[in-house]
Amino acid sequence: MRKPETDEEFRARFIRELDELSAEPRCEICDNWPDDCICPACPRCGSRGDSDCYQEGGLGICGELYGKLTLEQQIAQAERHVSELYRDWEEACLALDWMKSTRVDKKG
Ligand SMILES: [Zn+2]
Ligand SMILES: [Zn+2]
Repeated sequence: MRKPETDEEFRARFIRELDELSAEPRCEICDNWPDDCICPACPRCGSRGDSDCYQEGGLGICGELYGKLTLEQQIAQAERHVSELYRDWEEACLALDWMKSTRVDKKG
């Protein structure tokens, strides 16, 4: 069963969705803005930061760079992963605070 969304959850989701919208033009691989993209040009198709180059090849997918992320790209991806975890953690804290705030003090 899914509980109805609280105001705090709605707010957190709204902020996250705004974030995702504004993050759309970033490179899919290194998460940098196109001007700051650190991805090397693909030796096969010449494109930079194309996720198709980093997936297993076949079916029209390039695959040339599959399993060959540079250290800088790995760091960029790890940074993105950490910031996602941090955001989840913040949302969990908001939800916990909200639950605590709804506690009814039955002692009095
Ligand atoms: Zn990139
Ligand atoms: Zn390619």
